[in-house]
Amino acid sequence: MKAKIAEIFDSVQGEGLYLGEKQIFVRFFDCNLKCSFCDTKLDRFMEYEPQELFKEIKLYNNRYHSISFTGGEPLLCKDFLKEILKLTGKHGHRHYLETNGTLAAELEELIEHIDIVAMDLKLPSSTGMGELWDKHRSFLKIARRKEVFLKTIICQSTEENDLKQALELIKEVSPGSILILQPNSNENHGALNEKLSKFKKICGQERVTACVIPQIHKIVGVR
Ligand code: SF4
Repeated sequence: MKAKIAEIFDSVQGEGLYLGEKQIFVRFFDCNLKCSFCDTKLDRFMEYEPQELFKEIKLYNNRYHSISFTGGEPLLCKDFLKEILKLTGKHGHRHYLETNGTLAAELEELIEHIDIVAMDLKLPSSTGMGELWDKHRSFLKIARRKEVFLKTIICQSTEENDLKQALELIKEVSPGSILILQPNSNENHGALNEKLSKFKKICGQERVTACVIPQIHKIVGVR
């Protein structure tokens, strides 16, 4: 059983609620979506068996907050991921899953091994794709069994109605979960400020806790 892995490295988490935590990153190559703002331009990978990847992870010590399984979309390789999670779990690692939040059946098979789910909510007016609300709903129903926070990319094109629909979904399925509003790093942050303030205010009115957090690793120039 092999998986395409684009890179393995250690760094600090550059976005979301665990900003600044030291992590080991395992980036999976393939993705099932095509978001217009995608900045993950992967052009190479290595194929690994679970034991081979585990051997590489073991080169790092255990003084990390967690292992971040990211992508691409890690859940596309759920059988492989399950094997790795069992191995690294036995080794005392915590597991942080960064996911686009669309593959509920795959998450169901793995959730017992995951500690933290960093789940994207893909707003149609941001991604340029169709609606994913039903997929996100099914996914979040499983993810809420563990620690979960949500993240959504805000672009110039993002519509207020999409944000409101996302807030309804959070209130319905996982009330109390925190939403990160992340400005699109490909756009001028200054131009997005007004929209971000307005959206944060709407979150407050709808009683969903929201934080505006940009991708800090790009600002400070770390990997
Ligand atoms: S889900 Fe993530 S990796 Fe996949 S296309 Fe969208 S932004 Fe890129």
